Formats: sequence, structure tokens, C-alpha cells
Amino acid sequence: MRDLENGALVRFMKTSMFQVVPLPTEVAERARRAAEARGADHAVVIVDSPDTYPCRHCLRFAKPGERLILFPYASIPAGHPYSETGPIFVHAEPCERYRATHEYPGDFRSGRAFRAYNTSYDMIDAEVADGNEPEAIVEKLLQNPETAFVDARSVTRGCYTFRIQRA
Ligand SMILES: [Zn+2]
Repeated sequence: MRDLENGALVRFMKTSMFQVVPLPTEVAERARRAAEARGADHAVVIVDSPDTYPCRHCLRFAKPGERLILFPYASIPAGHPYSETGPIFVHAEPCERYRATHEYPGDFRSGRAFRAYNTSYDMIDAEVADGNEPEAIVEKLLQNPETAFVDARSVTRGCYTFRIQRA
């Protein structure tokens, strides 16, 4: 029993340092409206394979048969050397924004790269979670006082997945 409690405490301490920031609901809703209006840069995609299409709002891989909207998102705003706009998915139907923000999202424990940025949006460090616990990498990056936030991206395609900041 004591060991169990200690384990729970260690897990709590491990995840309490950071907070996951999913895509804001208003961005997902704007994308849904733009897709309905058939905006040229908003494509509707029907999922054909599992664990391939991550929704940035509920932070889950979409299931085969679900509809997603593919659209460009400026994860690092314009006007900076590291400005970046790239393609992301959100569910075409309303979904619940990821709520367990003190826990690392379970669907993305592998296949992510982590980029640390300072308050000027300059990338100051980056690591791949190559078989290591993603929490440990995130906390290591956040231990640098210069780090303002960490972005998780697909290690293969480079697409923005979610942001992590200090709790
Ligand atoms: Zn979703």
C-alpha cells in the first residue's frame, strides 16, 4: 500500500510541472465554418487508417470513417525568424477539447519531436522522444529558464501537434 501511494505521488510530481495546451476551441470552430463555406485551404478528409490523423482539439487520433478538416495553422505567428504555418487536422464534427491538461496525451507518447522556444518565439532547443518518456524530455526542456513553451510535433512530417507550458 505504501509503495502504491509512493508511486502515485511520483506520478503526480512528474506531471504537475507542465500543462498541455490543446488547440483553442475558437480555432477549431473557425476551421469548421471555413470548411462548410468550402474555403480553398480547408479540405475535408475521411480517415482511412488508425493512429495516423491526430485531432489537435481533442488530442486523439481520429478513428477510421471519421471526418477531419485539414487546414494551415500558424503555430509560431508571422513576424519572427522562426514563424511557422503548417497543416493540422481537427474533427469536422464538434469534439471535446482535451481536458486532462496536467497529463501528457496518451495517443502521442511516441513519434513526437519537442521544440523549446523562448518568449521571442526563437527556437532554443529541440529533442526527439526516441523511446524515452516524453514527460522527462518536456521537463528537461522546461528546466531551462529561457524556455517559454515547448511545441510537440510529428517527428516524421513535422506537423504541429500541441503546446506545453509550465503549470
Ligand atoms: Zn477532435
